[in-house]
Amino acid sequence: MNIKNSTALRTHLCGDMRAENIGQVVTLCGWVGRRREHGEHLAFLDLRDFSGIVQCVVDNTVDVRSEWVIRVTGKVQARPGGTVNANIPTGEVELAECKIEVLNNAEPPPFPIDQRGDDVDENVRLKFRYLDIRRERMQKNLRLRAAINSAIRKSMESQGFTEIETPLLMPSTPEGAREFLVPSRNEPGSFYALPQSPQLWKQLLMVAGMDRYYQIAKCLRDEDLRADRQYEFMQLDAEMSFVDKDDVIAMISTAVIAAALAATGSEPPPIERMTWHQAMNIYGIDKPDLRFGMTLVELTSVFTATEFKAFASAESIKAICVSHADYPQQAASGRNKLDALTERAKKLGAKGLVWLKVGEAGALESPVAKFLSPAEQSALVEQTGAVAGDLVLIVADTWATTCSVLGQLRNDLGRPPVHQGPYRYVWVVDFPMFVGINPTTKLPQPGHHPFCHPHPDDIDRLETDPLSVRALAYDLVLNGWELGSGSIRIHEPELQRRVFRYLGISDEDADHRFGFFLQPFKYGAPPHGGFAFGIDRLTAILAGEDNIREVIAFPKTQSGSDPMTNAPTVVESAQLKDLGIRLLPPAAK
Ligand code: ASP
Repeated sequence: MNIKNSTALRTHLCGDMRAENIGQVVTLCGWVGRRREHGEHLAFLDLRDFSGIVQCVVDNTVDVRSEWVIRVTGKVQARPGGTVNANIPTGEVELAECKIEVLNNAEPPPFPIDQRGDDVDENVRLKFRYLDIRRERMQKNLRLRAAINSAIRKSMESQGFTEIETPLLMPSTPEGAREFLVPSRNEPGSFYALPQSPQLWKQLLMVAGMDRYYQIAKCLRDEDLRADRQYEFMQLDAEMSFVDKDDVIAMISTAVIAAALAATGSEPPPIERMTWHQAMNIYGIDKPDLRFGMTLVELTSVFTATEFKAFASAESIKAICVSHADYPQQAASGRNKLDALTERAKKLGAKGLVWLKVGEAGALESPVAKFLSPAEQSALVEQTGAVAGDLVLIVADTWATTCSVLGQLRNDLGRPPVHQGPYRYVWVVDFPMFVGINPTTKLPQPGHHPFCHPHPDDIDRLETDPLSVRALAYDLVLNGWELGSGSIRIHEPELQRRVFRYLGISDEDADHRFGFFLQPFKYGAPPHGGFAFGIDRLTAILAGEDNIREVIAFPKTQSGSDPMTNAPTVVESAQLKDLGIRLLPPAAK
């Protein structure tokens, strides 16, 4: 793209100065970066704008300080031999004979702008976010984010999707996350909910015949914040009519690959696919990180006739092998570390953890080795592929617990930082419709949201064996982070009511709460499905960051506050009165 960078105040950008400009007189604007005194009369100033820095040779009596805003007119010249800086693109040249005009002065910044800022307290960074963004790292991240958004838009448009905006003020929906509520002034006692996602709207757009919708949408969820979660986040939200899951997966893959290409300059390989059952069985988690091994090994059949009580009654026995070659420190864990691993396994829900250290010729060192027959010991070594020096960790429990505990230990012991390459994308398909039964309400808990279509082969078992019912639901995972999820939706009104009923939402309740959503389905809803993925998460990983706050201009801290604006803030009692709200004393909350 050919952008005109000259404006009323400048002729060029700092970062664009090259050998080709030598001899030209240019006018540049920007902030004063580092200053180095040079000899008796001269000083070097780094002048910085968003495009980069250029060195200016100035008279050392010039009174400009760090972060002052200046305008410099000077002549581009080659840096004298031996002073070329190969680390910056403008390193061959400098600006000489500089005339400086101060456009604004500045107080000393609370942290250096010319450094990455890893050692600056996050609260301070966020309190002065406008200065934090002035740094190269944040400038790069926000521009990368824009490039990703732009690539996604282009890809979606070229695939026939229409961009449509949906409301921010809406009724509460049963999507599963805790919502932010907005009190209504006109109807005191009534509340809007801010969208967890545009889920219902996009499905209504399919009923409305829009065929392919997308939006880069702001979503809000009042859930505890983590490295990959903020109250507000952006997602590519899409919905399509007359499709099956392969259609949706293909289109979203195209958009993700386009985004990755725009961000990294190279296209990732075609995205792999596995079922939820495979992911749990092999990686012990529904967001498998494929960048490293230590996968779960099936051992149940090895112990069918075992005398070892803890194994005899278990539904599922699995192991991970912590290889000494790949993880020398972890494999050589001493007693304290092994006790800590056992405690961790128990906290995660296992009855216990069996550890075995493999010695020469397959000899096993472990408090439980004496309970295992020689045949069991050698089968165990053989199946896990363990060699001398390796550590084998075994869990024997229900299938679900065995998988999830070992999956978590695998991540604890071997997972690299999320942004570390290579990028391993994977589609996880055939999620279960329900993930469990809530012990207090005795109601099933949906795996995704309640609009996912049950697998046609499993619908008959919806009420009789709900936990075996698969949904036509799929997730996209990158390096162990869930990028997003989607599903083929229920388009048959009666089936939707049946699922609601089963989730404890009666017909009357459903009509009352989501009548606006159910009613339209009577007027010819096409089969449809969609997907949404988090732009923040994708951008963070592609930017080489391990926290989405690094790719969001104005994020909240881990505790949900904004040190710059002090949000959330107390409001005037008159405002509350207007809304018909009276606050409880803190203790009574
Ligand atoms: N609404 C879902 C979500 O935000 C995505 C989808 O099912 O399309 O997670």
